[in-house]
Amino acid sequence: MSNRELVILGTASQAPTRSRNHNGYFLRWDDEGLLFDPGEGTQRQMLFAGVTANHVTRICVTHFHGDHCLGLPGVLQRMALDRVAHPVEACYPAQNQEFLERLRHASLFHDTLELHERPVDGDGVVTVAPAFRLEARALSHLVPTVGYRLVEPDGRRMLPRELVGYGISGPDIGRLQRAGRLAVDGRVVTLDQVSEPRRGQRFAFVMDTRLCDAAFELADGADMLVCESTFADADVGLARDYGHLTAGQAGRIAAESGARLLVLTHFSQRYETTAQLSADAAAAFGGEIVVAADLDRIPVPKRVSTQLPGRDPAD
Ligand SMILES: [Zn+2]
Repeated sequence: MSNRELVILGTASQAPTRSRNHNGYFLRWDDEGLLFDPGEGTQRQMLFAGVTANHVTRICVTHFHGDHCLGLPGVLQRMALDRVAHPVEACYPAQNQEFLERLRHASLFHDTLELHERPVDGDGVVTVAPAFRLEARALSHLVPTVGYRLVEPDGRRMLPRELVGYGISGPDIGRLQRAGRLAVDGRVVTLDQVSEPRRGQRFAFVMDTRLCDAAFELADGADMLVCESTFADADVGLARDYGHLTAGQAGRIAAESGARLLVLTHFSQRYETTAQLSADAAAAFGGEIVVAADLDRIPVPKRVSTQLPGRDPAD
């Protein structure tokens, strides 16, 4: 099991179909589990996908249309039932605070959950975790809507060959990482000499929106971009009227933002297959495209190494 992967819990916009549940996306990111837009039926989809209430550390809601949030009461009550002991953060558009409260208290239950509310008011950093910072941007839909992105801080990758070359091993590696330099046999070795820059990974989640600058900003340099593609390009007028994207527009966002992997989802039930949606996106984006299906598990793409081949540790 990959330690960074997206588990697709549902892919239907507006109304579920026989093969597609309402929205729901679980992002496993090391020790964290982020549940995005839990639509109706999410609790049961989690069961099918092997995601437990205990795995969820944060819940991010883009907006309060039912297909993106009607699963909240069930998920929150299940977390209380299962005695989830860790605090859980809930992020959502601040303008619609009342709906978070209604959904949280939609029916009677013994509420033991420590839920930290993080209303998102404007663009910027929502929360900073050890492994990433979570940012939000306001999107352009019919109601207050925000998109999210996770940004892992850039770091450095240690180079085993260089470490051996300088005779550094064991606890000395940690000392060098912490201090940035280490005295070895009478000379000083710096961190730069035995490591290379490692770009942090990025994940972007762009749901219900028209084309807007914020969608491009969220997707900027994303290793994985999850993007709504409610309509085919032929129905671009409908997309504009209902505040949605076409698959071709999703492809354009991925292409112009330098995204690596585009995950298409949030499909209108008007299409019997996703073939046209896939083709529309591929016409605009030459990178990898996954048309999401319920219960898919999609690994976050591996990092691209920036190490230059054959570098001499004595350089
Ligand atoms: Zn919506």
